[in-house]
Amino acid sequence: MSVSKRVAVVGGGIVGLVAALELSELPGVSVTLYDPAPGTGATYAAAGMLAAAAEARPDEFESYELQLQSIPGWLSVFARIGIDDSHLHRSGTLYVGFDASDRRQLEQLRSVILAHGAEVENVRRSDDFDQFAGLHPNIQTGLFLPTDAWVDPDLVVKALIEVLKSRGVSFVEETVVSCSSEGAVSTNAGTSHFSAVLLATGSAALAANFPRTVNSVRPVRGITAHLHVSGVPTGPMVRAFVRGRDFYAVNRGDGNFVIGASSEERSEMGVELGELERLFRDASEVMPFLEGSVVGEIRRGLRPASASNDPFLERAPDSRVAYSSGHFRHGITLAPVSASATAQLMKEILDEG
Ligand SMILES: Cc1cc2nc3c(=O)[nH]c(=O)nc-3n(C[C@H](O)[C@H](O)[C@H](O)COP(=O)(O)OP(=O)(O)OC[C@H]3O[C@@H](n4cnc5c(N)ncnc54)[C@H](O)[C@@H]3O)c2cc1C
Repeated sequence: MSVSKRVAVVGGGIVGLVAALELSELPGVSVTLYDPAPGTGATYAAAGMLAAAAEARPDEFESYELQLQSIPGWLSVFARIGIDDSHLHRSGTLYVGFDASDRRQLEQLRSVILAHGAEVENVRRSDDFDQFAGLHPNIQTGLFLPTDAWVDPDLVVKALIEVLKSRGVSFVEETVVSCSSEGAVSTNAGTSHFSAVLLATGSAALAANFPRTVNSVRPVRGITAHLHVSGVPTGPMVRAFVRGRDFYAVNRGDGNFVIGASSEERSEMGVELGELERLFRDASEVMPFLEGSVVGEIRRGLRPASASNDPFLERAPDSRVAYSSGHFRHGITLAPVSASATAQLMKEILDEG
């Protein structure tokens, strides 16, 4: 079939890339993706947890439901980008508290998780020794959340870019400086015209010369550290309250770990020594064997958060432009469900002629 409609995706993070995959499957549509450095935004920093249960928050029921719907959607994405199902790692999360006050916090979290209808099991070191292997001896009990899973965002982004290129999606490695309601997209190199435009720009604020939107985003910074230690078997993701602070570790197998801490309402990209020191100290307290690990990369990124903390997909009024962002702490988890909704909206815009 001859290509008759041109679609632009602005932003090649996980949200834009998975949406571009869906859009590349619409008949008679050609896709152009603009990003000066695809895959290097928040997506690059993400640990890849698909942890709807562990992420349950009292005021985020909508996001929880979307995450649950989205997790199986990764298998459909994998099938289309040539990744084996085994890369959806259904390891579950072991959630623990370090001291007595942390364990009380864990009890409160258990009520929240149950209120969301998620599966949660009380586990004890004496009964489930393998799950607790390597954790500090203080940690004798915890919650196991069997439905949580993880993917490796690096693997996924690489495969997505390769498949999109092989499908004829054209990558323009430039920043979009303006976008009109009629679908004119400009970089410093020139302007191209599209039948529909998707803005998937993550935490970047839309400048005045973009269509006016109802929603906006604020950046919430986070860091992850990549560690390696030999001779450690695969295990569940570990989440912990450590003297009131959040800590998580994803055991990616072969001794590779990604660790991180809670979100911070700040946007400076610099990483402070004290912040790293706290993260590494919490890691060594919860998982003492990590003290001997080798530090690889430190990654940082800005999570795109909306006013309600929920993701949004909107069409800018009287325009050919859709805007998808606000995926906050869950962009990897939500990308499949978000991309399906986006493709539907873009199709509606295209069908208008
Ligand atoms: C430390 C950390 C850990 C995280 N861990 C997890 C996790 O375990 N699980 C999970 O589900 N989520 C996690 N997240 C959240 C997740 O990473 C984000 O929700 C997700 O990456 C958002 O994707 P995005 O595509 O909207 O944004 P981004 O990945 O930031 O991509 C936006 C892209 O838009 C491009 N762009 C912006 N403006 C323009 C422009 N004008 N022109 C062209 N291109 C432009 C940027 O270059 C960038 O590549 C984590 C985030 C952080 C920071």
